[in-house]
Amino acid sequence: MPVASSAGADSRQFRAGRVVAERIEEASNLDLCEAPNRSTGLISEFAHSRGELFNRSGASYLEFKLSLAPRYPRTWLNITGGYLALIMTAVAMMVVHAVPLLPAAVAVLLGALSFGWWIHYLILFFHEALHFNLAPTKQWNDRLAAVFISPLLGFNVATFRDAHFEHHRHLGTPQDNEVSYFSALTPRFIVESILGIRIVRALVAKRRYLQHTQAPSAVAWPTLLSSAAFHGSVIGASLVAAQYALAIAWVAAMISVAPALNLIRQILEHRDFAAQSSTDYSRVVHGPVARIFGDGPLASTFGAAGFNRHLLHHLEPQISCTRLRELESFLNDTALATRLAVCRTTYWTTFVRLLRA
Ligand SMILES: [Zn+2]
Ligand SMILES: [Zn+2]
Repeated sequence: MPVASSAGADSRQFRAGRVVAERIEEASNLDLCEAPNRSTGLISEFAHSRGELFNRSGASYLEFKLSLAPRYPRTWLNITGGYLALIMTAVAMMVVHAVPLLPAAVAVLLGALSFGWWIHYLILFFHEALHFNLAPTKQWNDRLAAVFISPLLGFNVATFRDAHFEHHRHLGTPQDNEVSYFSALTPRFIVESILGIRIVRALVAKRRYLQHTQAPSAVAWPTLLSSAAFHGSVIGASLVAAQYALAIAWVAAMISVAPALNLIRQILEHRDFAAQSSTDYSRVVHGPVARIFGDGPLASTFGAAGFNRHLLHHLEPQISCTRLRELESFLNDTALATRLAVCRTTYWTTFVRLLRA
């Protein structure tokens, strides 16, 4: 069994880490990003073996992990940035309306894309709330989510929390309740997502699942009312101010752009390149696939709240999105570096590859 040979890699701990990495590879015998038909692999093996992982300096992974407390101000700065981007989009649309710089249809299209992008960005922080990463206490986490995130969606975190934890437990199996990646990424899927057909289907499936598991009511009236009030205020104020393009763009963003981005992003995160479009993965095991994407301005906003490092989230679901960069740096200094490198890609590369597949 090969061991690290460089002077910096000669610590016993690093060799131990390499042994663990090789054991993980042998045990799972799969490339996490490629294997289509495994229900266990790196994620579950990592959970069992991380206690034996050390970096090149001999630092224990478990001790390092204890230092990764959430950075709440950074999370809230990011959420504030999302709302500011929505406000700036609205202001830009009003300027375009006042000084006709663009045909109205083009302004609506660009406005819908921008609103949709930033609404999708903001709703990703719902996931941080599911993992209690918005505030130091669980009560304040859920209260803040109810005020700042849920009105965008119309869902409350209590309803979806257990279902999301089941996604972590059953990733890649027919028991997973996040099923977008069971569908192939085809032009038809993209068109149906843009038309809102796919999100309706996904919500119906999720509702059935929640009823089946007797989760708290999927229809939480206070949340639904806060959502109606929020979106109604934006649309109503736009209509009163004769900003019709803005109102149309907002509605299009809500029912088309943001849901389409959400569904496509889930496919890019979890669908195997070798998955077959003819296979029904609600009956056949797909395999636990997760990826690490880029860190640029598009990737870090399309994959906000740590979704651009989704594999790392599946390795350590409780770690805040504000610490995943450091988690990745540490793991890159362990014997797992080569395993993670295989799973590193870009959203665009994955999109093109899955579309061709
Ligand atoms: Zn996931
Ligand atoms: Zn999660």
